Amino acid sequence: MAEAAIDFTGIVVSRQNFREHDALVRFLTSQYGFKTFIARGLKRPKAKLAGVTLPFTLGDYVGVVRAAGLSQLRTAKGTQLFRQPMENIVTNAYATYIFDLIRAAFPEGQAIPRWYDIGKAVLLGMDRGLDPAILANIVEIQLLPAFGVAPQLRVCAICGRDDRPMDYSEGAGGLICNRHWAQEPYRFHASAKAIYYLRRFSVVNINQVQSINVNVQTKAELRTIIDRIYSDTVGTYPRSKRFIDSLGQWNQDFKPLKPRNASNGEQSK
Ligand SMILES: [Zn+2]
Repeated sequence: MAEAAIDFTGIVVSRQNFREHDALVRFLTSQYGFKTFIARGLKRPKAKLAGVTLPFTLGDYVGVVRAAGLSQLRTAKGTQLFRQPMENIVTNAYATYIFDLIRAAFPEGQAIPRWYDIGKAVLLGMDRGLDPAILANIVEIQLLPAFGVAPQLRVCAICGRDDRPMDYSEGAGGLICNRHWAQEPYRFHASAKAIYYLRRFSVVNINQVQSINVNVQTKAELRTIIDRIYSDTVGTYPRSKRFIDSLGQWNQDFKPLKPRNASNGEQSK
């Protein structure tokens, strides 16, 4: 009996060759979380699926979705391309890393509609010209609870106050106000600006961010702080992060590609 194909909405997060003429396309879907689809004949000339399965395409697709094993991609109904992550190597590297990190936090097939929404907001944000290093920071901070690490980033982890200068302490489990600094020798000695952004990133809705201007010094400090939190308490380091580290882009101002026109993305069939 033939399995029924159904409609789904998703973001292509990776594509790799499979067998002689096929490809494996991994999506972050809005309904089923991460799912890997076999796209038959994708490598044949004029394959219709080739243009609609480029990484960081968002769209409505039709396929046979299986609970386990490979699903099967049939066709696309309408897709949107994002110019920044496709054409800018730095933005592309960050988009790859961001979706790798989300994937590290959730098993394939687990429905994660909130993270689909955040992934979509990241791509839209990139096309608005937001700094991808900062978008990565926001995702890294908001993903911490999914990795079983939920640092206190709202108030002092020790006394609950929020009206004093703060620092970050892994021993205390998050922010600590300056009344306890003397008893926390391994606190991060973070700048007030970096602490401000850590707190803001933990609650910000990317869809509502119009611009983020973090100076290069604070950007580098945030990178160091978040790397330390990840290496000490999460232990996940996707391969794509290594490429980002080699770019050293967090140490520079980000310059997006000039918008080609006023609209975000392009429609294709
Ligand atoms: Zn305190």
